[in-house]
Amino acid sequence: MADNLHQQNLRHAVMDEIAAKHSIEGKIIAAMKNVPRHLFVNEEQQDVAYLDEPLPIASGQTISQIATVAMQTHLLKMQKGDCVLEIGTGSGYQAAVLCELGYRVYSIERHRKLHLAAKENLSDAGYNDVVLVHGDGFYGLPQFAPFDGILVTCGAPEIPEELITQLAIGGRMVVPVGKKLQEMMVVEKTGETDYSTTGAGYFRFVPMLKGTVN
Ligand code: SAH
Repeated sequence: MADNLHQQNLRHAVMDEIAAKHSIEGKIIAAMKNVPRHLFVNEEQQDVAYLDEPLPIASGQTISQIATVAMQTHLLKMQKGDCVLEIGTGSGYQAAVLCELGYRVYSIERHRKLHLAAKENLSDAGYNDVVLVHGDGFYGLPQFAPFDGILVTCGAPEIPEELITQLAIGGRMVVPVGKKLQEMMVVEKTGETDYSTTGAGYFRFVPMLKGTVN
């Protein structure tokens, strides 16, 4: 894993900037200072890996902006050892951040090409303790449920009901909901069939789509 001083400095600087701008739990800023984002972006994007911007990855998808990854991770409010399901593995960067925090991580991606590339990226960056699945996130992973947290990194048309059934009572789901622009929704499961929702601002994500791509 190549991670030089220059890259480390850029990474620390951008995380300090994000910490100054947004209210993000300190442990998340500290963890993200350790995750080599440049290993999750394309060869051509190496120079801009530490700009706080979304960047193109394969299959017409994007790796989320750094501040958005920090914010979603913050809103999830997990503790070390908690079981977290991510929908939309993409590059694997968000999954790496969750691993770095000591969460037990499962992640689903609908594009096989991205799923395989993420596997390599995570292994290159030294994150081997993560379960990656090529599949349709609308169905979640019932075989590993219940999850303490579910993090959706694509724009869902509405709150995915099936995923709520896979949340533990007391668990939280962070999901951007909407078509062109998405409202970040925090869903708290309060009982077997009860949950509350709170909005946490507006963001722009690639859409959550049905089915898988080989
Ligand atoms: N978390 C990623 C961001 C990737 S963008 C990262 O850190 O890089 C969102 C991803 O969600 C895309 O790769 C897209 O293919 C995927 N996606 C969209 N709909 C999906 C679905 N139904 N199931 C699984 N993945 C999905």
